[in-house]
Amino acid sequence: MGVLDIVPAGVLTGDNVRKLFEYAKANQFAIPAINVTSSSTANAVLEAARDIKAPIIIQVSQGGSAYFAGKGLPNDKQQASIAGAIAAAHHVRTVAKEYGVPVVLHSDHCAKKLLPWFDGMLKADEEYFKSHGEPLFSSHMLDLSEESKEENIQICVEYLKRLAPIGVWLEMEIGITGGEEDGVDNTGVDNAKLYTQPEDVWDVYEAFSKVTPNFSIAAAFGNVHGVYKPGNVKLHPELLNKHQLYAEQKLSKQKPLFLVFHGGSGSTKEEIKTAVENGVVKMNVDTDTQFAYLAGIRDFIQNKSGYLQTQVGNPEGADKPNKKYYDPRVWVREGEKTLVVRVKEACTDLGNTNRLFPRAI
Ligand SMILES: [Zn+2]
Repeated sequence: MGVLDIVPAGVLTGDNVRKLFEYAKANQFAIPAINVTSSSTANAVLEAARDIKAPIIIQVSQGGSAYFAGKGLPNDKQQASIAGAIAAAHHVRTVAKEYGVPVVLHSDHCAKKLLPWFDGMLKADEEYFKSHGEPLFSSHMLDLSEESKEENIQICVEYLKRLAPIGVWLEMEIGITGGEEDGVDNTGVDNAKLYTQPEDVWDVYEAFSKVTPNFSIAAAFGNVHGVYKPGNVKLHPELLNKHQLYAEQKLSKQKPLFLVFHGGSGSTKEEIKTAVENGVVKMNVDTDTQFAYLAGIRDFIQNKSGYLQTQVGNPEGADKPNKKYYDPRVWVREGEKTLVVRVKEACTDLGNTNRLFPRAI
């Protein structure tokens, strides 16, 4: 059985999201979640998934959403982030089926102060549900990890009661991802908070599962956003097994938790493998794919410098036109190509290749 025997191509919602994650967990692979900021980056991610025959997760951060709508827009009430996330969702929905891959369309970290952004997306989900019988997005993340555990769980459960009936998956975070991303700076956070305890994960599971089975937990195991010098980050993905074992004892069900790996950029292959073995079904990659997108454009601009100084005139002659060098479809495309390569690498690291169709034995 391949993924397409279980779920359709295009944006997945409702139980199809869980079916995909269950399949991934049972077959010991995980799906990378790539942050996109434009139709160009979104298309490159879809292209990589199509080429490598795998499902994919496309996500927008609050800042990435605002960028998608345009940096020239005011965002004091999260209006640009709301509009941009919705625009990204409609774009991905429109083209995903053409790429023939199942897509989980997700929104990334939303802290308490950003809840107006979440509320705007949820309103769009509810409106879309009225006319289409499914939500606009597959999944959202609420990150209330900086609040007390009780408040974190309570607010999440309140939202879950609205998300579950329209078929939206919820990802939550407990424990803190260190480092800095998208303007959220956790570089000075207390070390103990970087490693979530099994009891806390269980408390989340117990409260959420009364409402819906459609949720995942980003438990911290020393994760850090961004890429730093080797040695600065002490990842302990083996700790995730403790969460699974603790829940297993309570439920007498194997590996009951859907876990999420934040700050996947810069991780070793071994760390990734251990995380997947312990029930990680989604790994976020942003920093490495940002760098990959730059690489193609940077190299093009450097290598073709002589063709990019004037509209007419290059090393081949003073009257030679340069349009085929400065057309954005040429140089932006170079960034897309290097991004495609990096997304494929993330898929390969997670075992997410050649998954759409039944595999030859
Ligand atoms: Zn994250």
